[in-house]
Amino acid sequence: MGKITMALVGEYTRVYIADTTDMVDEARKIHDTFPVATAALGRSITAASIMGKMLKGENEKLTFQIKAKGLIDSIVAVAWSNGNVKAFISDPHVDFEDHENNKLNVGGAIGTDGEIIIIKDLGLKDPYIGRSHLVSGEIAEDLAQYYLESEQQPSIISLGVLVSPDLSVIAAGGFFAQPMPNIPEDEIILLERAVKDMPAISSVIKEYTDHEEMLKILFPDMALRIMETYDVALKCDCSKEKLEKALITLGSDDIKEIIDTDGKAQLHCHFCNTYYDFSGEELINIYKLTKK
Ligand SMILES: [Zn+2]
Repeated sequence: MGKITMALVGEYTRVYIADTTDMVDEARKIHDTFPVATAALGRSITAASIMGKMLKGENEKLTFQIKAKGLIDSIVAVAWSNGNVKAFISDPHVDFEDHENNKLNVGGAIGTDGEIIIIKDLGLKDPYIGRSHLVSGEIAEDLAQYYLESEQQPSIISLGVLVSPDLSVIAAGGFFAQPMPNIPEDEIILLERAVKDMPAISSVIKEYTDHEEMLKILFPDMALRIMETYDVALKCDCSKEKLEKALITLGSDDIKEIIDTDGKAQLHCHFCNTYYDFSGEELINIYKLTKK
């Protein structure tokens, strides 16, 4: 289980802070990720969870995607408006232990040749799709650039994952701080000062459990008003019924071919690493449905 708190820092800056340590460690176990992949996937899970919580409607959904040409070439995190997330990384066993100032080098593993893609399914006919080029591959910086380019929203974003030598996740989380357009100059100065002296988010999450305390450490000279706290989780929405529907969309010819050649089928959900078996009898029933 993770936690997100929405707060107002000063009078004009909305902040979402997330502790996703448990979620990221669960994802690490599901995908068997090595440290740099754990960090990249963990930062993406945290970002997606916060962005999911920022959606307005109950049935809205957000897909956060990184497509790059580095050692890691694809990360997908899907979030619902309750902040729950399912996530996938193409290269869990990336071996890139080049530590930069004691920090896992996510930017080095993803590179800058690629883009960040945000798809918002707001329940309308077509989803909203925004994209921007990677600036560092560190994810937080890339997302801040995305917000500026695609949504004209200046943002301070920090994402961090601390991995233990035994590969488990010690701390994971992050925050998004977005000032309102009418923020006065003196509050901008306070924000800039806070950012300049800010400790690493992963060490703050490691040290504190209370979100109010974390925000006081991150934005020390600013007024703070806690608005709401939410529970969030790593949760997949796959089911045998959903995969059955996917099989039906293959069409009768393809299903007949599976029945004739293998006699059975196994489908894999790459988000939660679950396998679903379909017997010959089940496939015949699905074949009959495609004929209807
Ligand atoms: Zn699944």
